[in-house]
Amino acid sequence: MTNPSRRALIAGNWKMNNTVRECVALALAVSAQGRPGPRTDVVLAPMFTALLAVSEALKGTGVAVAAQDVHWEEAGAFTGEVSAAMLEDAGCTYCLVGHSERRHGLGETDQVVYRKLQALLRHGLTPIACVGETLAEREGGITYQVLGRQLDALLEGASEAVFGGVVLAYEPVWAIGTGRTASPRDAQTAHAFLRDRVRHRLADAADRVRILYGGSAKADNAAELLAQPDVDGLLVGGASLDAASFARIIQAAG
Ligand code: PEP
Repeated sequence: MTNPSRRALIAGNWKMNNTVRECVALALAVSAQGRPGPRTDVVLAPMFTALLAVSEALKGTGVAVAAQDVHWEEAGAFTGEVSAAMLEDAGCTYCLVGHSERRHGLGETDQVVYRKLQALLRHGLTPIACVGETLAEREGGITYQVLGRQLDALLEGASEAVFGGVVLAYEPVWAIGTGRTASPRDAQTAHAFLRDRVRHRLADAADRVRILYGGSAKADNAAELLAQPDVDGLLVGGASLDAASFARIIQAAG
């Protein structure tokens, strides 16, 4: 069981996988098999082209839809980009920002992630803002320096009222898609660090902000990760592509 003062959140990041039809079928299978408890939210993040179809398919099921990225501008000459208003129009209520595959694979800076977060907040979308250290940073002993820097960038100008609704995801880069999971104790330590750092700036928001763990979470390790007091949910990549295994993760949240 996660901390009872916050709703649990189980999020599936489908990355660049599946056709639109396959996404709709998977979304329907998750909503049929998932059966979240009364204090658990479920959100699915298909690729841009499937957002509208998946949102329509999930209407009335209680399962929410997230985009995997957003551009910070409202509209205009930004070829290939999608704005927060467009995501809202497609039925999204959440959106990932700062996923490590964008920070490290596509060179997104803390400043870019911050601008994306602000665009989402302007439109009332809930950001799932990812932070996490690489293996080299962990081995170099600078994990908390990196997490602190990434989080501080997100907290720039933040208010208690708004930041309490933000979702953070601690995703150690070395654990994403590798089959290596942070130990529950290491995850808890990182989550407590993040929450304390929020508390330093925003005392009330710190207890409301939900912090997900991401990095090779699966049905077999979900319960022990979710048992940690500062782990409020999971951001799941690979294991979210299979409805039965994702349903087991949802059930582990209670
Ligand atoms: C992710 O993409 O956010 C992720 C955590 O992936 P995986 O679960 O496959 O490690």
